[in-house]
Amino acid sequence: MKIIVIGGGPGALYFAISAKLRDAGHDITVIERDPPGATYGWGVVYWDDLLDALYGNDSESARELRAASVLWQQQEVRLRGKTAFYAGYGYSVGRAALLEILGQRAENVGVRIRYQDNVQDLSDFREADLIVAADGASSRVRQQDEYFGTTLTTGLNPYIWLGTDKVFSKFLFDFQETPAGWVWCHAYPSSSGISTFIVECQEQTWSRLGLGAMCSDDSRSALEEIFSDVLKGHRLISESRGQPARWQRFTEVRNEKWYHGNVVLLGDAAHTTHFTIGSGTRLAILDAIALAQSLYERGESLPHALDMYEERRRKPMYRTQAAARSSMAWYERVNLYTDRDSVAFAAAMAARQGSLPPWRHQLHLLEQLAPARVAHRWYETGERFYLARRRGEALRYTSFAPPRSPSAPADTGPHARPRTEELPTADARSVAV
Ligand SMILES: Cc1cc2nc3c(=O)[nH]c(=O)nc-3n(C[C@H](O)[C@H](O)[C@H](O)COP(=O)(O)OP(=O)(O)OC[C@H]3O[C@@H](n4cnc5c(N)ncnc54)[C@H](O)[C@@H]3O)c2cc1C
Repeated sequence: MKIIVIGGGPGALYFAISAKLRDAGHDITVIERDPPGATYGWGVVYWDDLLDALYGNDSESARELRAASVLWQQQEVRLRGKTAFYAGYGYSVGRAALLEILGQRAENVGVRIRYQDNVQDLSDFREADLIVAADGASSRVRQQDEYFGTTLTTGLNPYIWLGTDKVFSKFLFDFQETPAGWVWCHAYPSSSGISTFIVECQEQTWSRLGLGAMCSDDSRSALEEIFSDVLKGHRLISESRGQPARWQRFTEVRNEKWYHGNVVLLGDAAHTTHFTIGSGTRLAILDAIALAQSLYERGESLPHALDMYEERRRKPMYRTQAAARSSMAWYERVNLYTDRDSVAFAAAMAARQGSLPPWRHQLHLLEQLAPARVAHRWYETGERFYLARRRGEALRYTSFAPPRSPSAPADTGPHARPRTEELPTADARSVAV
């Protein structure tokens, strides 16, 4: 099959790898508008469920991805300088490293990647059997076809995706009160020497602080001052692909149909989820596996294969997007909760996608005691060891050091581990290479 993939993000590259591994006869070209190594953003977090899917699909790139990732253990929520602790661990990888690993692997399995080619329309690809639109949230391909039934909804809070040379070992949410209102960061490690630092606030706070009217350097300096007790003299980094990061508002993308003719949407082009559930990359990768597997199973009939892909991925996305909307809305109304102490505030944050069962609340209170945190950490280390063994991961990547991770109960939390129902089917994983 002749396949053109538009976009060279994680969804596109992972689809190309997965399809080629299932059928070496596919002729696949990935077209990316940026040069190699140029990308936006910093670290992306993910959890064990994604590692399970990656190891099951392509253990070679999974190993490299795991080796390039850092483990964060423990989440801390700071309000008025007081810290509350919350159980939870995950992994984080720099977006640039992720793309380098996937790009290299794609080329090694025989995928062609054409960089610096900004696709304007699809007329050049008439000979393609399949066109995969993996060109991100603002997908030009999607915009050219009303058939997809696209709905775009813009969130209220401005945010900016920055890096910092301060190395965090934990996931930190720090809420700072300014005369103009609350400003907060979501900070976590992303690669050696660099951490991710996303800053968010309500619209009126942003306007009163004049952040939108400032040049990039002034806005960065203002944020360094607001978060000075967290950054402790370290700097914020704005430029990630030669251009300064910009303040943005999240746009939720939904589509009634994910394919039309031989054009199919994948990843952010098909759906977006607010960054506070840390799932977009993971969902794009799971789309990629599901599409490759559907082609493998029903390749003789493209419409059947694309139906199967839609069936596997589109409906489960309703729930995920609803959870992401609740999460986004909580941050948009954060000032309703800031009169609480930090422990109650962290509990409210953890419950933002639904109520917290009483036992989770008790566990959260227990977590504030250092011995309970140590015990929990050991428990999670054991769990991580078990999961790593089960998927055949080299144990040198399985940290037994202090930090920590959550286990079975962790589908809620300040930065919640996602639910597992969108994982590829057992069939999909059984085609592991
Ligand atoms: C602040 C923030 C934090 C996030 N944190 C996380 C996280 O912790 N965990 C997580 O899983 N996800 C996270 N995400 C979401 C994640 O970044 C996206 O969901 C993910 O990148 C989607 O992958 P994709 O391949 O679908 O699209 P993209 O990564 O957007 O890739 C699209 C690619 O297409 C290219 N392109 C676009 N138009 C054209 C064209 N016309 N021609 C050729 N190429 C084109 C672009 O240059 C880009 O490389 C975060 C997002 C934000 C904004």
